[in-house]
Amino acid sequence: MKRNTKIAILGGGESGTGAAILALKEGYRVFLSDNGSIKDKYKSVLKNYEIGFEENGHTLSQILDAGLVIKSPGIPNDVQVVRLLKERGIPVISEIEFAGRFTKAKKICITGSNGKTTTTLLLHHILKNAGLNAGLAGNVGKSFAWQVATHNFDVVVLEISSFQLDGMSGFKADIAILLNITPDHLDRYEGSFEKYAQSKFRILQNQTENDALIYCYDDPVIRQQLEEKEVKMQRFPFSLKEAAFEQGAFLKNKNIVIKTQNKPLIMTLEKLALQGKHNIYNSMAAGIAARLMDLRHDSIKQSLSDFHNIPHRLEYVASVHGITFINDSKATNLNSTWYALEYFDNPVVWIAGGIDKGNDYNMINDLVKEKVKAIVCLGVNNEKLFDAFGKMVETMVETTTIAQAVVSAYHLAKKGDIVLLSPACASFDLFENYEDRGNQFREVVRSL
Ligand code: ADP
Repeated sequence: MKRNTKIAILGGGESGTGAAILALKEGYRVFLSDNGSIKDKYKSVLKNYEIGFEENGHTLSQILDAGLVIKSPGIPNDVQVVRLLKERGIPVISEIEFAGRFTKAKKICITGSNGKTTTTLLLHHILKNAGLNAGLAGNVGKSFAWQVATHNFDVVVLEISSFQLDGMSGFKADIAILLNITPDHLDRYEGSFEKYAQSKFRILQNQTENDALIYCYDDPVIRQQLEEKEVKMQRFPFSLKEAAFEQGAFLKNKNIVIKTQNKPLIMTLEKLALQGKHNIYNSMAAGIAARLMDLRHDSIKQSLSDFHNIPHRLEYVASVHGITFINDSKATNLNSTWYALEYFDNPVVWIAGGIDKGNDYNMINDLVKEKVKAIVCLGVNNEKLFDAFGKMVETMVETTTIAQAVVSAYHLAKKGDIVLLSPACASFDLFENYEDRGNQFREVVRSL
């Protein structure tokens, strides 16, 4: 595409602002448009770079004359402006696709329904500790485009959501990590799990025999799709159930074994900083990627054992009169809640609810029967939870503030029990976002 072509950017958040800066730096004419309001911090950046922008609405004439449009992943494909662009044949891509065109850095890309942020931060920690000039981008921290515009990294670890993948066609991951595919965001995929899964699989697109795919062998959806597809890249499965891959990661006598081309890396499970089955998967995935980057065993093991877990993911908050409070506010779908319930052996008072993204609660029936002694519903509409568990769990109460929820859970719990906030739902009915929900939970627990 010729320099001086006009690029229109839809969405003035982290990715849109980053894309605008990169586009400007690369010599394009840039206009940014946001249907809602733009945060002050992004407005001042745009003004600083003298980038034209508008908020609270789209001026179509300013967008439909662009040669290329970069769309924020938060904007669905069926809104009017995107439909008009498609009708006119104007390419609409994501910020990651765009930024990928302007960097020579090696790209390690992580996707999946759950565990993306944890694995991305863990892998970045390993690479940095080993002394690599490594960036961190995608859904975490600063946008990829901004990093490409302002830094010169040798390698970048990217957390990539399905919405971002939808706008990517020419992009290629040097190392792709596919953690799991379980139902989430079906509201954005016409209720179709198939479509959502296909979107996740775009992480493999354009990969050649020189590239690597690290994937969860225990995930039936991933396995089935890989059998059906003709794929050229080198594959590195990881599993908690299978015990011997030529290349990949598996368990042997309470050790993780990671095999790439050279001597296997062996590490005892106990030494992992991140505990729980789901985190063994995440550590395996990050460990394989680190070996593919040729990092020393000692250095990888050290980093896998000294990583600090991030807030809102099975985060220990406090113990009050022998009752342990756990903040898993980031569990916004059922699969992540499954892992949370699976993790604890003690009876659980479960705080759940919010905006349901299409949950099929049958999937956790066994765990609920076995471990949950009471459910505290925390949402505007709790009907689905009552339908699913009303007959299974003796005590269910409804609350509409975090303070009510925590106090109810505290009264329902006994010494030795766990109070687990793991909502399996989005938070927007009662909170700003999952962080707000988790922060409020922490505050109330600490004031008990
Ligand atoms: P993402 O970025 O994909 O949303 P996070 O790392 O933020 O993932 O974790 C989200 C939730 O999923 C947390 O509740 C966490 O405990 C849980 N989780 C983390 N890794 C996994 C995994 N591999 N499988 C299932 N659940 C996971």
